Amino acid sequence: MITPTTDPQPADFADVRATNLAVVLRSVREHAPCSRADIAASTGLNKATVSSLVADLIDRRLVRETGLTENRVGRPATMLVLDGSPYAAIGVEVNVDYVTAVAVDLSGERLLSWRRSFPGATTTAAQAVATVAAIVRRVVNRMAREERQVLGLAVGVPGLVGADGTVRVAPNLGWRDADVCGDLTRALRDPGFPVRVDNDANLAALAEHRFGPWAGTANLVYLTGEIGVGAGVVLDGCLRRGGQGYVGEIGHIQLDPFGAECRCGRLGCLEAVAGIGAVLEHPALSPAEVEIELDEVVRLARAADSRTLSTLAAVGHNLGKGVAMIANLLNPEVVILGGYYVPLAPWLLPAVEAELRGRTIAPDAGGCQVVASTLGYGAAALGGAARVLDSVDSGRLPRVS
Ligand SMILES: [Zn+2]
Repeated sequence: MITPTTDPQPADFADVRATNLAVVLRSVREHAPCSRADIAASTGLNKATVSSLVADLIDRRLVRETGLTENRVGRPATMLVLDGSPYAAIGVEVNVDYVTAVAVDLSGERLLSWRRSFPGATTTAAQAVATVAAIVRRVVNRMAREERQVLGLAVGVPGLVGADGTVRVAPNLGWRDADVCGDLTRALRDPGFPVRVDNDANLAALAEHRFGPWAGTANLVYLTGEIGVGAGVVLDGCLRRGGQGYVGEIGHIQLDPFGAECRCGRLGCLEAVAGIGAVLEHPALSPAEVEIELDEVVRLARAADSRTLSTLAAVGHNLGKGVAMIANLLNPEVVILGGYYVPLAPWLLPAVEAELRGRTIAPDAGGCQVVASTLGYGAAALGGAARVLDSVDSGRLPRVS
């Protein structure tokens, strides 16, 4: 008789050990402070195995001991918490108008957060790589002064990014087939830590999934509200990339065949009728001016200026049609609006909610809520760091130095 099984396939000892180290590390991340017995209970590993794995994690300074339990029956147990103070994960976001860099330690504590304006629309991919490399070298030097080992770097770009880190198309940056990952690795002179390039919405979704108020939500969609609009999709607890990594290009779904021209050359794309360009009076503004103009929109909306309110309502309705498509297709628990949508959320959300409820076939929009991100403009950069931490949690542990 053949019995279907979901048990893991046999693997060699090193693989099993790495997997189990990752299991214990995730258990400490989730339950800290916790004892070795707690870890054994929550993971199903036996106590001797847990003790040996914990010793290894302490050697790697990923976990440390902290005091004894109180109020426990029997022998007091030594409690464990994440350490990771000698490590740093770096995330960078390149966007049309700015570059952001973030570094966090293993527990997600923010070590630095830098943002500088950047003329993305008029900068070639090669120039952008040089700029990012210069910023990353400064971050790495800072981490070295703090005696931290860099675990990895992930860079978010607003565009289609292949699995190999090649940016296939970034319409708002004007890049095509740019080997950003390869060029950046060379510019950093093979830095000794992994370098990844990813779509900005994917990384922002990872940031929300790890650090945001909806952290741990199994089905979560993040919508970037930058010059472009893209979706990062977490389903069943995992970021979904699709066949070639291009999941989430909702910005170029046509909402209105007679609508405004999109930067991609088509008409009435969601991005053209619900992106920041549809909110501002002068869509061809220089990037630095976008925020100034946005402040003015918020001021007018607060003053109940009727033209501003009707523009925001129209944009909210268009955005809501997009959110309803997401709800019908993916049934997420939450859709999180990021970027420039955040300051506009009080005026966009009522129209978004109305469209979501009116256009979703499932009762109560399938339980979908729409909220504004609280992670700020650095969400994609923070998500770059989250991606590095995710790879540590899944077993790519730093070597003992
Ligand atoms: Zn388009």
